[in-house]
Formats: sequence, C-alpha cells, structure tokens
Amino acid sequence: MMNTNEVAFLSNILKTPKQIAIIPHRNPDGDALGSSLGLYHVLKQLNHQVKVVSPNDFPEFISWLPDANEVIVFEKNYDDCSSFLQGCDLVFTLDFNAFHRAGDQMGSYLEKLRKTFIMIDHHQMPENYAEITVSDTSYGSTCELLYNFIEQLNLSHLITKDVATCIYTGIVTDSGSFKFVKTTGNTHRVVAKLIDLGVDNPKVHSQLFNTTSFNQLQLLGRALQNLKVLYNHSAAYTYLSQTDLDEFNYQKGDTEGIVNYGLSLKGINLAAIFIENKEEGMIKISFRSEGDFDVNNFARNYFNGGGHINAAGGKSFDSLSDAISKFETVLTTINKQ
Ligand code: 5GP
Ligand code: MN
Repeated sequence: MMNTNEVAFLSNILKTPKQIAIIPHRNPDGDALGSSLGLYHVLKQLNHQVKVVSPNDFPEFISWLPDANEVIVFEKNYDDCSSFLQGCDLVFTLDFNAFHRAGDQMGSYLEKLRKTFIMIDHHQMPENYAEITVSDTSYGSTCELLYNFIEQLNLSHLITKDVATCIYTGIVTDSGSFKFVKTTGNTHRVVAKLIDLGVDNPKVHSQLFNTTSFNQLQLLGRALQNLKVLYNHSAAYTYLSQTDLDEFNYQKGDTEGIVNYGLSLKGINLAAIFIENKEEGMIKISFRSEGDFDVNNFARNYFNGGGHINAAGGKSFDSLSDAISKFETVLTTINKQ
C-alpha cells in the first residue's frame, strides 16, 4: 500500500482534471483489463480525461466489460495512442511491473516516455520506473489490490456497479474462482462488498466461462489427447502446434486455462503447456504448480519468463519439439522430486 506522503501526492494530483492513461500488460487477461477499466471508471467520475491504452487486443471472453469498447490499442492505432500518451499528466501501469511486459513495441516506447508513472501490481520483482509503486505479492490479483488502493484514496464512494463488476472479474479470473492459494479473508471481504454494490455474480461467471465455442472445446480435446505425464518428476505437459490451432480456427483466449488440467491429475504438482505461434516465431509457455515448486523461478531461469510461485509463463524461440525436450532435460537436471 501507499505511505501517507504518496497518498497526499496522488490525492493532490487528482484534485484537478488531468489527462491519464491506464495500461494493462500485453495479452491482457481478466485481471489486467478488469483493473484497468475499474480504475478508468473511478477516474472518469473525477472528471479526468482517461483512456485505457492496451498494448494489443484483448480476448472475447472479457470484451463485455463495461466500456471495453473504449479501449485503444497501441499495436493497432499507434498514432492515437502515442498522441494521447504524450499529452498525459499521469500514466498507470496495471497488473505488470516491467516495461517489457507491454510487449516489444509498447515496452520500448514506455522506456522512453518521460511521464509520472504509478504502478499497481502483484507480481514479484518490480522494476523501478514508477513515482509510486503499489506492489504487493501477497495479493491474489491486481483487482483486489486496486480495491484497497481506491479505499486508501478515500474514493470508495466512486465504486459503482460498473467499477465493482470490473474488479470482481479480475478477482475471479486470477483466483481460479476463489480457489488458488492467495484467496484470503480479505479477498472474500472485498468480494462481499462488491456483490453488495450490485455485481451480478452469476452473470459475470456465465459471461466469463460459459461462452465456449465448439472449436474451443475441440481444441481443448486435442490438448488433452496430447497430454504427457512425467510421473518421476510429478509433472505433466501438453502442447498445441500451429497446425492444431489452425485446425480449430484458434481465437485469442481459446487456450486460457487448458494448462490447469495437468494439475488435476493425482500426484502431479507441475503442469505446462507449449503453444506454437508461427506468426511471432516463438513458443508461448504457461506453467502452473501446486505447493512448493516455484514456477516463477523456473520460468525466469530457463524460459525467458516469470510470474508467480504457482503460475508463470515464458517463451522459447526453439522449435516446439526442442522447447519440450529442453523442459524434460531441465527437469531431469534439477532432479525435481
Ligand atoms: P499465463 O500462463 O496465464 O500466460 O501467465 C501466468 C502468469 O505468469 C501471469 O501472472 C503472467 O503475468 C505471468 N507471465 C506470463 N508470461 C510471462 C512472461 O513471458 N514473462 C513474465 N515475466 N511473466 C509472465
Ligand atoms: Mn494479475
């Protein structure tokens, strides 16, 4: 949380109308877009000129979030995004803590952008670019942290149903619907207040999780058939090649959550999925673990990535099969048991 000086500094800035950009990480998920739009709706009520500037497009399953259609996309609309950012008094970065997480293009743009940054995030090892760094890894989501941030600024009265819906969405998606380790009493207290503020929780769940397309289900089927179990490492992994993705007309977000199926196997506490992306010339990897196996370190050390202890991601510029071989080799080397 912020100290008293930081609260005073920020409250003072927000007292008069400002131009403010809010940036989620690249490939925004429910927490990144939910927190960004939640903050957007709060700041709008204070008469600031606010825009959410996303590095790239967001997936369909969160496109119903209130005012998601107002988001401008840096990689699609450079001119508008750049001119807005240049005119800003304040730039919030939400759900990430290192500029490269905004992607190559927007990341290097932000490196050069001399503006006052405010970071709100729950990942490990924050970079040092922000005037105010609200970074707390004990939170399960940026949205939950944002709720407490709004409270700290004495702006709770601005948490409308729309704000509450955005925040609720990020909490639900990052906590695996309230089941992951960092789901605390505070999480449930915050959620209770959000529901009291009018969040239609069954509807949010339905909009998030019950809009699967036939192709998406078939793609999941392919991933489950590709599943390999490494019992001696208590690990399981699967993969989807570009051909698999093409066959089922892959849309952004279609592979969300597939990695978790590996963890549901008895005796397995490390799961991975390797997804080929021919266009970007890389393999995107997601890691999930249960218990002590630290996938943040694992992704950082071996797969150009990072994240949290139990959920992390990375990438490989090898072929799909080489990336998988490396995974198996590394597991053997570190002799995980
Ligand atoms: P996912 O597997 O859902 O893409 O990501 C899981 C977690 O790891 C998220 O919290 C995400 O922010 C983080 N993460 C995913 N990919 C990367 C990456 O390439 N680099 C870093 N530093 N973190 C990542
Ligand atoms: Mn998050």
